[in-house]
Amino acid sequence: MVRARADLHIHSSASDGSDSPSELVRKADAMKLGCIALTDHDSLDGIQELMGAEASDDLKRISGLEISAEYEGREVHILGYFVPLDSKPLNDRLEYLRASRHNRLPKMIQKLNDLGLDISIDELYDDIVGVSSPGRPHVAQLLVKKGFVGSTQEAFQKYLAHDKPGYVKKERMPALEATKLLRSVSAVPVLAHPLTIRVQDLLSFIQTLMNVGLLGIEVDYDYSFLGIHRSSDEVREIIKDLDIIQTGGSDYHGTIHYTELGGVTVSIEVVENLERVHDEI
Ligand SMILES: [Zn+2]
Ligand SMILES: [Zn+2]
Repeated sequence: MVRARADLHIHSSASDGSDSPSELVRKADAMKLGCIALTDHDSLDGIQELMGAEASDDLKRISGLEISAEYEGREVHILGYFVPLDSKPLNDRLEYLRASRHNRLPKMIQKLNDLGLDISIDELYDDIVGVSSPGRPHVAQLLVKKGFVGSTQEAFQKYLAHDKPGYVKKERMPALEATKLLRSVSAVPVLAHPLTIRVQDLLSFIQTLMNVGLLGIEVDYDYSFLGIHRSSDEVREIIKDLDIIQTGGSDYHGTIHYTELGGVTVSIEVVENLERVHDEI
């Protein structure tokens, strides 16, 4: 029987998932999925293992990526499909973003020191051993531990929230740049989970991205695990007059998140559509 379903949004241990790429391949093959796309955050490190893992020929594998981008200060995730591994401009840009995120913690500690709080980066590093994406919650926990605040909530209210004195901006790629960059390396850019984006007018935002090369929208997505009680039908309605590919996936992160591998899938025809546009660009 032809394998009919594809899960086009999956994370591995190369970003913040708990399964290795080969483990994902093994599970997807056992589930008789027809295609999976590995879309780690700002990283292509898992793709070689994904492609090399042994599985039935009936399981297609797509080299993907999920770029953490922003638009007017709001977080926007851009998925890329059929991403080449050897593009220097793309790899350099991803490396820069990873490095700047790493530098964010020492900068935050410095700001807190300047405010007279006696905490050190070494204390923080001791607390975050094995944490794949350390950030403000960990700094907040340290402030509680050292008795500077009574709760992590207070830490945010006093120091770490957006407009507070210990805040350091998170470096993100502008969404338009991420879209153009993916197109420039012949990858297919797709807007991820659009209902998480806090823009006033989602349709005009999508059109803005389409003007610079966006080719798809992730329509099928389970928002409930993010605590967002909205349905994919809303997106379908918003984009009904647009000529754009509709994708979908589970956003599986292994044991860390709630949606199962293959928990959200799309028809294998969507993969054929992505392949077709990829061949044309
Ligand atoms: Zn995302
Ligand atoms: Zn994701």
